[in-house]
Amino acid sequence: MKEFYNKDHSKPTSQGTALINQIKESPLLDRINPTCEGCGQNHSYLIHKKKVYEGNKNFFRLLVPRKTRYYISCPQCSFVMELDYDEYQALKIIADQNQIRGKS
Ligand SMILES: [Zn+2]
Repeated sequence: MKEFYNKDHSKPTSQGTALINQIKESPLLDRINPTCEGCGQNHSYLIHKKKVYEGNKNFFRLLVPRKTRYYISCPQCSFVMELDYDEYQALKIIADQNQIRGKS
């Protein structure tokens, strides 16, 4: 998942946290493994949104269309999974509720 990481190999800023118990409750999110494939933790995932360049980055950079991609990552290991837009929306609602309740 090379595109996920920033140029300095850091993770893109997180949009919030969704607890795995909450993910399990949503039928939209049944593609997401309730146990991290990398480290086995089963508590939470971070949610990310990133704009990526399509095609050749160095040539006519401003003309290259940018596309938004959506991901979850494990807070404890390097596991990353790309999401589709509907999955991201469902997770963002959960993460925003958590932020209001002070869970994340
Ligand atoms: Zn993990």
